[in-house]
Order: sequence, then structure tokens, then C-alpha cells
Amino acid sequence: MTAPSIDRSPIPPPALLDALTTPRGRVLMLGHVHPDGDVLGTLLGLGQALEAAGWPVTYAGPHPVPEVLDFLPGADRWQVWQRPPCAFDVLVLTDCPNDERTEGLLEASRAPGSRVLNIDHHPDNRLYGTVNWIDAGAAATGEMVFDLIEALRLGVTPAIAMNLFTAIHTDTGSFRYSNTTARTFRIAGELTVRGAQPALVADRLYQRRPVDALETLGEVLQRVNVSADGRVAWLTVPRALASDAFMSAEDLVTYPRSIEGVQVAALLREEENGRIKASLRGKGQVPVNRIAHRFGGGGHENAAGCTIRGSLEEATTALLAAVNDSLGGLAS
Ligand code: 5GP
Ligand code: MN
Repeated sequence: MTAPSIDRSPIPPPALLDALTTPRGRVLMLGHVHPDGDVLGTLLGLGQALEAAGWPVTYAGPHPVPEVLDFLPGADRWQVWQRPPCAFDVLVLTDCPNDERTEGLLEASRAPGSRVLNIDHHPDNRLYGTVNWIDAGAAATGEMVFDLIEALRLGVTPAIAMNLFTAIHTDTGSFRYSNTTARTFRIAGELTVRGAQPALVADRLYQRRPVDALETLGEVLQRVNVSADGRVAWLTVPRALASDAFMSAEDLVTYPRSIEGVQVAALLREEENGRIKASLRGKGQVPVNRIAHRFGGGGHENAAGCTIRGSLEEATTALLAAVNDSLGGLAS
């Protein structure tokens, strides 16, 4: 058994190219809980490139494709598992920093000789793969996977281009966040040449609201709070207020984040079983992943998340205390 390889460069590493060069066994493209555009776009896009090269590929995760992303080419092949039907020779995880986020599917899908390929852009990735390629400078895993498919000399079809473009579009907040670089535009431009349709992606993500979503949005936005000093804004959403489809279609944390002067924005969403899902956003002054780490979560400096046990009120109090701590640290 060779030692795991770890590479943090923007160039697809030799160990990864070697693992994917010649079809050898069955591949599982494995998603984590609540897969987003970057997770799904990269798993579907890379999986389709591997299939064209002759690999048998299965796509699965613990949770379904959210409705808002069901336009992704190949989304109809996504399987939702509690338990895998068999073991796989190669497991590919993209945009998944933490091996505990597959609800046990990673352990259950691997055999002693399986290779686990961990492709991610989170700086706090736990390096759980047999091959780990972590490029924290990439705005989205979609950028990395484009370069990987090119380095493998596999074709980028319009379907693959749509998947990778959507991955990049969603992780950069439609090319607005500070992670957006010249590389982002270069790759997005190249994907457009290969058949991605930017207007179609924007239409499917933002222009297909059901009528009652506006009503819900109106109610939800009344719940935005801002701290006395104006540096923290937060929004709490009780379970009864909004459906799962609404919550995954709306990037609600952008509203508290959009207020001038706000340095840390938070969304706290009540889930089932007394769990509160928190999303944190920063604007460069405070690394919000450090706040998320205190609750066992993680993420990027300006976008992170965690799950907190307790009531919505308890979780809000605890999270705001941690946010205040980090802001206090900044002032001193
Ligand atoms: P979001 O707030 O959109 O769910 O996630 C923002 C970022 O934080 C993403 O990069 C995501 O991977 C990370 N993140 C969100 N929730 C969690 C969590 O519970 N644990 C970890 N480790 N990362 C999270
Ligand atoms: Mn990502």
C-alpha cells in the first residue's frame, strides 16, 4: 500500500492523473450531505468525462439533487443511498472537505484496495483520500475539474461544460465574490466556448421561482436583524416558515450580507431533530471559517457553515457570542 499523496498546487498532480488515466474498475462519484452546485456540477462533469473514456461510473450521495439544480445534465442519474449496493474501486469526492459528511457512505463504499480521490478547494480539507488534491486558490472545485479533464486529455462536451460552468457560477455568487479571479473568467470563458450557456444557467437558478416563493421571501426578510454597531447581520428561519425547496433555491444569507457596513452575516435555519444549520459569510475582515470551526463546521475564510444542536434561539445566542468574540479579537 503506497502512502497517501497530498498536493496543494493549482496543477492537477501526477498521482491523480495516474489514478484516472486508464480505466481500471468501477468508479463512484460520491456526494456529501446537501450537495450544492459545485459538488454536483463537478461530480457529474468529471464522471461524464470518465464515462466517455470507458470507465463505468455511478453517481450517488446521501441526499437528492435539489430541485433548483435538476437541470444539470445527468442529474437524472443521481442516486440517493442509505447504504451502497457494492464496493467501488475508485471513489471520487469533490468539494468535500470532511469525510464525515457522507453519512457513512464513504466507508461503506470502499474496499481495502479502493482508491479515494479527494479533489477540493477548502483550506481546511481533512486529507482523507489516498490521493488528495487541494487548491485553496480555486474559486470553485469546478475550476480544478476543468483543468483536470484537460490534463487527462478527455473531451469537454456541452453537457460537461454546463455542469462545470454551473459549479463555478454558484460558488462565486455569479462571479461577484472575492474568490473570483482571472482564472475563473478564463475557465468560464473556455467552458462557454465548449457549450455552456450562461444565460440558461442564470435562468434556471434565478428566474424560475414559484409565485408563492416571493410571499415567503417577504416574510423571511422581515426577520433580518442587525447589531447595534452595524457590523453583524443575521437571519433566523424557523422550520415552519419555508420549505426545503425554497431554502435550497434561495441564497438567503446574501440578504444580511448585502447590508452596508456588515462584516459578518449569518443565516440560521432550523432543521429536523433539534439541529440548526448555520451559514456564515464574511467580507474580508473576519475569517468566518474560524467561527464555524468552534462548532465543528468549516469552510472558506469568507463563506463557512456548521450545524448547532439546540433551539433556534439557543443556537443564535451561541453563534452571535462567537461572532462577537471574533470581532472583539479584531478590534484589540
Ligand atoms: P453554505 O453556508 O453555503 O452551506 O456553505 C458555505 C461553505 O461552508 C461551503 O464551502 C461549505 O462547504 C462550508 N460548510 C457549510 N456547512 C458546513 C458544515 O457543517 N461543516 C463543514 N465542515 N463545512 C461546512
Ligand atoms: Mn466549492
